[in-house]
Amino acid sequence: MLLYNSLSRTREEFVPLEPGKVKMYTCGPTVYHFAHIGNLRTYIMEDVLEKTFRYLGYDVTRVMNITDVGHLASDADTGEDKMLKGARRENKSVMEIAKFYTDAFFADCEKLNIKRPDVVEPATNCIDEYIKIIEGLLEKGSAYAAGGNIYFDTSTLPKYYVFNDHDEEDLAVGVREGVEEDTNKRNKNDFVLWFTKSKFEDQALKWDSPWGVGYPGWHIECSGISLKHLGGTLDLHAGGIDNAFPHHTNEIAQSESYLGHKWCNYWFHVHHLNTDTGKMSKSKGEFLTVSLLEQKGYAPLAYRLFCLQSHYRRNLVFSWENLDNAVVAYNKLIARIAALKPEGEVDEAALAELKAGFAGALENDLNTSLAVTALYDALKAKTSDATKLAALADFDRVLSLNLIAAAEALRNQQAEAKAAETEAGDPEILAAIAARAAAKKERNFAEADRIRDELAARGIILVDTREGTTYRIEN
Ligand code: AMP
Ligand code: ZN
Repeated sequence: MLLYNSLSRTREEFVPLEPGKVKMYTCGPTVYHFAHIGNLRTYIMEDVLEKTFRYLGYDVTRVMNITDVGHLASDADTGEDKMLKGARRENKSVMEIAKFYTDAFFADCEKLNIKRPDVVEPATNCIDEYIKIIEGLLEKGSAYAAGGNIYFDTSTLPKYYVFNDHDEEDLAVGVREGVEEDTNKRNKNDFVLWFTKSKFEDQALKWDSPWGVGYPGWHIECSGISLKHLGGTLDLHAGGIDNAFPHHTNEIAQSESYLGHKWCNYWFHVHHLNTDTGKMSKSKGEFLTVSLLEQKGYAPLAYRLFCLQSHYRRNLVFSWENLDNAVVAYNKLIARIAALKPEGEVDEAALAELKAGFAGALENDLNTSLAVTALYDALKAKTSDATKLAALADFDRVLSLNLIAAAEALRNQQAEAKAAETEAGDPEILAAIAARAAAKKERNFAEADRIRDELAARGIILVDTREGTTYRIEN
């Protein structure tokens, strides 16, 4: 499989550390608010990547963190803890906020058919891991204490900017303007591993540590959780492109300094969902959620299809018109699948050919729009409906668009509508009967007879009863 690796800045053949196995880590949500559909674009594409590995036969272990402490308003460790901000906004405790938005996140994931990672670990569960790593970094001289906090010393690294195909300013999207510089830092890029002192006194969650009561920095969480569950090496680490710097850059700095060897081989970054005013972001205040899409009548899976139709390494522009187009495409697709008859033999050779086309698209740096095209190729193929249905069900293991179930639901709906129509009577005949009754009432018997005779000529015989007129169809 060819995958673009942000570390080498090229598309590379994916070679796992252990044949047939993939150890995968993905940055999880900061649970201080609902995930917006931009965040969810990243999770959808990571889900497709995980399912592609599984489709290709790999045994995948995927770990994801839940950030419930330490992620400050600026990714550069300044400002207030986002969790605290969320708690204050809603007059709740930090743990209540964490629980509520973690549940909301997984509810959104379920609606979008995003599989739950094998391991989901809240950051607050792993304080001992962070302390152990920070102690190791201090021993090695890679970290220092200043002003009560512990910092990572980036000057100890031969190379800090590992993803440097982006210029520094571009990468610094997470570093918001208007926040004070931390004067404890020896170097501009140094970052906090452990906070004991910060500008705000009321940090809700604090733990004992060798350096005083405090809490971990955001970056150390992902290193600690990954080391805990996946060990000292990792095949692939994923996240949104804004995480490349400083978050992932710092994860690499601290993990490799601690371990003394290369940590992760492949870095997979999903580009942003933008609106017409730029990146969709929570800090801007206005953002779209899955619930909002539902309230407006959009099926969440239409949004999933919308994401699949574009490549993960391109920015994707959200507009209602674009989403409407995805809805039309989704509904047409389901209608075409519903029209297939689940009968006939599966032609194994034809099925293998369709599958090869589908796998080839995904193996080419996760080309999901081509993988979606493979659905239409299957529908158009000169083969039995049974073969087509087998191919579509197989592709949906990765695309997760509920293709077969939605088509079956549509077929049932169509059958029910037809049955209801039969029971109530054909609307056209009922209209003719009503017109005849109206003509009779106006004593226009010629017109009434004309209607009756016209129906009779089509084998529709009217039967007048005391309760009104019914009909029967003669063969
Ligand atoms: P957060 O909950 O803010 O920590 O972000 C969760 C994930 O969403 C991270 O991997 C971010 O990089 C990613 N992300 C944030 N904004 C966007 C966006 N507009 N489009 C795509 N991914 C995003
Ligand atoms: Zn992370």
